[in-house]
Amino acid sequence: MNAAYLYLQLYRLFDDATPVPFDCGKACGRACCRGDDSGMFLFPGEEAVFSLLKPDWASVEYSDLTYIFDEKEYRVPILFCKGSCDRYQRPLSCRIFPLTPYLDKNGRLEIINDPRAKSVCPLPLAFSPEEYERTFSDNVRKTSKLLLFNPRIAAFLEAYSRYLDEFEQFYKQEDI
Ligand code: SF4
Ligand code: SF4
Repeated sequence: MNAAYLYLQLYRLFDDATPVPFDCGKACGRACCRGDDSGMFLFPGEEAVFSLLKPDWASVEYSDLTYIFDEKEYRVPILFCKGSCDRYQRPLSCRIFPLTPYLDKNGRLEIINDPRAKSVCPLPLAFSPEEYERTFSDNVRKTSKLLLFNPRIAAFLEAYSRYLDEFEQFYKQEDI
């Protein structure tokens, strides 16, 4: 299946599904959309969406995070925006924020509050992953399960989860 088409279909699951039933951006000043240099990781193949749509509010670069698939090393693409976007074109990481898929050390899929969100977003302080809007958390789980069937995405998720582990460790030490 064409990767851009797959992601565009998945995006639709989050056109209306949001973590909480109100505009959380009003309370925090849209803290997750500052357009700073942190960027949002793209899932493997998702960069095809942005090659296709060519949005003028975003650029795609390659991060230092890598994963191995089929004996080849891949760098994870990352999207930088200017702090605003076309809501219907935003990437998957933005749509599922502040949740994220995570593979534990046994390769089991969990849906967790993204440890990187904790210093930015007030939601993880107030809600556990099960406490978000049901449709939102169900769609994050459904999407993650589906993506995990793809061996290249599974390889990415493994490396990404270890990166989250390191971040969580750092977060605990710094007590951010
Ligand atoms: S930082 Fe969190 S609370 Fe604020 S807009 Fe983003 S998701 Fe909503
Ligand atoms: S792409 Fe859109 S939703 Fe994602 S961080 Fe930028 S402004 Fe926010």
